[in-house]
Amino acid sequence: MKSRILAAPLAVAALLAAALLPAVAAAREPFSFDKAYGRLPKDVVPVEYQVAIVPDATALTTTGKQTVQLEFRSASARIQFNSSGQVLSGVTLDGKPVAKVASDDEAQLTTVTLAAPAPAGKHVLHFSFTGKIDERPQGLFRQAYVTPTGAKGTMLTTQMESIYARRMFPCWDEPAFRARFTLEVTAPAEWTAVANMPAVSRVVKGTLATTRFATTPKMPAYLVELTVGDVAAIHGVAGKTKVSVWAVKGQEQGGEYALANAKQILADYNGYFGVDYPLPKLDSIAVPGGFSGAMENWGAITYNDQVLLVTPASTIGNRQDVYSIQAHEMAHQWFGDLVTMGWWDDIWLNESFASWMAAKQTDRRNPDWHWWLGEDNAKEDAMAADAIAGVHAIEQHVTNENEVDNAFDPQITYSKGQSILRMIESWLGPDVFRDGVRRYMKDRAYSNATSADLWKALGAASGRDVAATTAGWTEKPGFPLVLATASCDAAGARTVSLLQQRFYADGQQGEASDWSVPLLVRSGTAANAVPALLSAQGQSVPVGRCDEPLSLNADAIGYFRVAYDAGVLANNTRAFGALPAGDRLALLDDQWALASAGRAPLAQYLGFVQAQSAASDLVPRAWLQVTDALGAIEQSERGTPGYDAWLGYARGVLKPVLDRLGWVPKGDETPDLRRLRRVLFTDLGQWGDEAVLAEARRRFAAFLADHKTLSPDEQSATLSIVARHADAATFEQLKSLAEGTQDTTEIRRFYGALTQVKDPQLAQRVIDLALGDKLPPQANSLPRNLVFGVSGQNPALAWKAFSGHTDQLLASSPMFASMIIAQYSPQIFWSGVPLDEIEKFARSKVPENIGPLVDRGMTTARVQLKRKETLVREADAFLKK
Ligand SMILES: [Zn+2]
Repeated sequence: MKSRILAAPLAVAALLAAALLPAVAAAREPFSFDKAYGRLPKDVVPVEYQVAIVPDATALTTTGKQTVQLEFRSASARIQFNSSGQVLSGVTLDGKPVAKVASDDEAQLTTVTLAAPAPAGKHVLHFSFTGKIDERPQGLFRQAYVTPTGAKGTMLTTQMESIYARRMFPCWDEPAFRARFTLEVTAPAEWTAVANMPAVSRVVKGTLATTRFATTPKMPAYLVELTVGDVAAIHGVAGKTKVSVWAVKGQEQGGEYALANAKQILADYNGYFGVDYPLPKLDSIAVPGGFSGAMENWGAITYNDQVLLVTPASTIGNRQDVYSIQAHEMAHQWFGDLVTMGWWDDIWLNESFASWMAAKQTDRRNPDWHWWLGEDNAKEDAMAADAIAGVHAIEQHVTNENEVDNAFDPQITYSKGQSILRMIESWLGPDVFRDGVRRYMKDRAYSNATSADLWKALGAASGRDVAATTAGWTEKPGFPLVLATASCDAAGARTVSLLQQRFYADGQQGEASDWSVPLLVRSGTAANAVPALLSAQGQSVPVGRCDEPLSLNADAIGYFRVAYDAGVLANNTRAFGALPAGDRLALLDDQWALASAGRAPLAQYLGFVQAQSAASDLVPRAWLQVTDALGAIEQSERGTPGYDAWLGYARGVLKPVLDRLGWVPKGDETPDLRRLRRVLFTDLGQWGDEAVLAEARRRFAAFLADHKTLSPDEQSATLSIVARHADAATFEQLKSLAEGTQDTTEIRRFYGALTQVKDPQLAQRVIDLALGDKLPPQANSLPRNLVFGVSGQNPALAWKAFSGHTDQLLASSPMFASMIIAQYSPQIFWSGVPLDEIEKFARSKVPENIGPLVDRGMTTARVQLKRKETLVREADAFLKK
């Protein structure tokens, strides 16, 4: 799945993780059903389910009938499976009543006891059940919404991952238990039902219709999908697959873009994976609100409507979200659905691969988006999290399935995993890597896998001992800092001596490390960089001439940092403007990380910035790196005597770049260039540049008079500048704007702008809006995002709202509630609230077994405080000179 819960409001936060448990040994062995971790006994396994369910969307209850074809692998008198909230009745095995049925909602288990052991072989379990429908996205849930015309509606849909299928119907709810599913649903006749497979029959009786679906291939229960509601679709075909986009009736035309993408992506993936998408249809379903992201149910992917539908109010950023999240979920149709991790330890096999594949696909089909350069942001987020003591490895053991949700760590599981795969792909070569992936798909199709299966397939394709190089990156936390020291011979030829140590964000000297580091080496400005594997401390590499610049992480593909010696640093600064975009980015990232950790003077980083100012070209992503860094210092300097001097300096760096770009978008610009202009405009306006502020106010007045004067892409920048400096009258104008639209994209944008206010009294009014009842039900994650948004300028106020109304604000995201409280709240509120107060709150709100996540959040908050001190000291010292 893909969650956007944590990404958007936390762009700034350097996140971390803590040692939960060491990586599990099982991940290092090929998949075996008997050895796969889990609670359920493996002697009785499901082969096929027939589930007929009758939901009552008003009473929030279900009744159902279920038949399960079982395989007894040995004689047994006990059948055990997961259940949660159901009451079973009429339980029979092979038509005969069983001796005893005990359902334990606490343990989420039902145990059926037979009068005598049933022999090995095939048996049929049958029962009726009653159950519940949730209003939170767990299992089968009800989603209320208001359409753009003001009509109210409800929809039933599902979110099964990770352990919520059991809340809809009793099942073997662990990923190793694959079975076929035949679903049947009886719902109001005016509603339409969508599930994993096509409907094979629909019978209307009175006011109800019973829809039966074709049987799925063997798959884990967490991939089951069922949606019923007043929905409609648009359709297309890709090869032999029917492709559709579903939405609340009347909104389906907003799926045209997604439909075109789905056709393109499916064809590309069929080619890449070497195994065609195996289901007859692929649906994409827009759920209004519901959950903040998307879920890869096989054949029926559900999306928050904001990341699937495109309307006239959508921005290019919205379209990029749609494409890249589709590419992520569709990659899961192979990585996750066709081949599933054996246990949640290897969730990275799902999420890292889907993230990497999505970035590769998005980049390939949208070259002018410069997608990989943009994804450097995700890599930096991961490295910030991964540079903190106590972080966990990509592979981490999950012993308690109630903690599975916390394994979906956006920084490590998604972004670090994606970065590692890209580095391995670059090291093996893209064709060899693809051949390995094809082999893996073919070997493990309709079954499960561990990391060892992947390394084996890549090893067979490449003829190399892949695990020896890669395992360190997935089994160990952290990453190396490579220390490069150059020496020259009499003729000026350069040899670089390399050491590595683990890198920590708090400035502590890391222990010597032994990662196999795939370097990409470029000396001078040669078009091609040369691969080299750093495998031993003190290794020497001859590279070019001593007067040339040097990149050991060419194109910023590698997941490591480099500290160059003073001579190389001087060369790199001098030649900075002539280096390829990716090399510049890697140098900026590394020098910024070293400066933030207090391991290098900030002046060295700002030397690169100065060199970039003088370069003849504009590399948008590199400048966005700079705006982020200057912004981090701005935040650190708030309330200090050096604040105004720093703002003056930062404006002086950014204003010429904006002037050079021009203040108004031009027709043929790439999205990243446009984005850079908006960021420069926003920063300068918020940081008090009088001319930009006046222009923003002029644009705002024109926009109020006629919305057509500002394109959707340009609105947030102007609104957030005006909001930052807003007085009560301007606030009223902004608020009326938000209250005056029914479009959910605009609702999020206009309310989001309000959070930028500096005035505490106005900020309190934003919080009152977040906690009130005026927001439409499908914008159910907006209240939380508003409170987090307010924390930027008014952290203490936002904290009071968050700590006082936690359950209300997190109700829409039960899956991530613990992670947000324990791990994220310290990182959001550290600048405005005493740390011990945050810690006390977090520990009181989460179960004891979530303690390590609190440790993780608190360690990061302390590192952030230390970084703030470092940056203020360094910035003040720099400006004194
Ligand atoms: Zn995913």
